[in-house]
Amino acid sequence: MKKALIIGGGIAGPVTAMALQRAGIEAVVCEAYEDAAAEQLGAYLTVAVNGLAALSLIDAHELVQATGHPTGTLSFATARGKHIADMPIGGMLPDGTVTHSVKRRDLYRALNAEAERRGIRYEFGRRLVDAVEIPGGGVRATFADGGTLDADLLIGADGIRSRTREIIDPTAPQANYLGIYGLGGFVNDPEQHAELALEPGIYNMIFGREVFFGYLVAPTGEIWWFANVPHTRELSKSELSGTDIAHWRAELTRLLAADRTPAARIVAATPDETFVPAFNQYDMPSVAKWHNDSMVIIGDAAHAVASSSGQGVSMAVEDAIVLATCLRDIPETAAALTEFEHRRRERVERVVAHGAETSGDKATNGISRWLVRMLTPFFLRRAAKGGVGHLNWMFDHRVDWEPADASAR
Ligand SMILES: Cc1cc2nc3c(=O)[nH]c(=O)nc-3n(C[C@H](O)[C@H](O)[C@H](O)COP(=O)(O)OP(=O)(O)OC[C@H]3O[C@@H](n4cnc5c(N)ncnc54)[C@H](O)[C@@H]3O)c2cc1C
Repeated sequence: MKKALIIGGGIAGPVTAMALQRAGIEAVVCEAYEDAAAEQLGAYLTVAVNGLAALSLIDAHELVQATGHPTGTLSFATARGKHIADMPIGGMLPDGTVTHSVKRRDLYRALNAEAERRGIRYEFGRRLVDAVEIPGGGVRATFADGGTLDADLLIGADGIRSRTREIIDPTAPQANYLGIYGLGGFVNDPEQHAELALEPGIYNMIFGREVFFGYLVAPTGEIWWFANVPHTRELSKSELSGTDIAHWRAELTRLLAADRTPAARIVAATPDETFVPAFNQYDMPSVAKWHNDSMVIIGDAAHAVASSSGQGVSMAVEDAIVLATCLRDIPETAAALTEFEHRRRERVERVVAHGAETSGDKATNGISRWLVRMLTPFFLRRAAKGGVGHLNWMFDHRVDWEPADASAR
């Protein structure tokens, strides 16, 4: 039986491990942290229908349904609180499932716990530092603790700062700062909830004067929110770790002051313990080399997409399924990795480009932001009239578990 070493127990790691198990390939997941979920940035994320469809191929979409809740509709408003348009976030699966929102830590924990429950072996606290191809076949990975592991292939699901990417190609590009930092939080405030008449299932988005603000209410009544703040300079490590919540709260309150929307009140009501401090936002420019003969990168390591596209998880999950089917159907590893890249590159690069475009709208400053603010309602209303049709290529894409020529066999 072929043995794969998966680096990273985030999203792509556990999903690939479960998919490989179904494909009859043994996998070990090596995760740098003892508790990777605790290290994750951002408050919550949306898992789009195309990602849920891919997860359903390995019976894992129910994990998202169990830990998150449906948010199938986007509702846009202006800085004056004027409603612009509603739009579905993708379509619906045959069983009625729509795009879901889930707390980031809950999703990481659920996927990794399920992989462990299915018998996948994990090694926590193991940070990959190097890997070499073994003459005659296979790969040897070296970890920060000095230990090594051998396998037939190594799959780098190690995120946007991927070490595997550097090992495969030392000249590979680094993550690209998008000109935005994010903040977020959770607040249980029944009074505000009632006053705002929030409806579960609707994801509210505000084109504020200074800040793009999103919020929704979970079925529990808890309000989840995020804010994207344009900022030309990347926040430094000391700004990120050394600045307290009071500073970020005050800064955001100042930036939201001119808007006539519920955003400032939601921020004010959020307790310190559930306030997510600032984090820089990145995507990944096109990476020329995804693999060599026995190592490959997937998920954010290969093609991180701007968070505003809501497609990062779905792209990672689609990768996992496609990679497992290639390795199952093509006996020679190098040929399977080539086929994987062939099947995935065009799609993920289109999604990354779309994400960069939408986050560009939120990152612009001064006159360009004013223009975006003036023109966005017009374009959104026009897009809403046509439903989500212009994004069908993104949401309606389905990866297959069966081999392409199964019917011919
Ligand atoms: C603020 C924010 C909001 C987002 N919102 C959304 C959203 O709404 N919808 C959406 O679909 N996507 C969203 N995304 C993107 C999404 O989180 C990523 O696309 C997704 O997590 C990618 O999964 P991954 O497994 O490739 O990488 P990751 O989730 O980053 O996992 C990588 C794992 O590898 C581990 N690792 C790293 N280096 C090593 C090493 N050397 N050795 C061993 N382990 C290592 C890490 O600890 C981590 O556990 C958002 C991202 C951010 C930052």
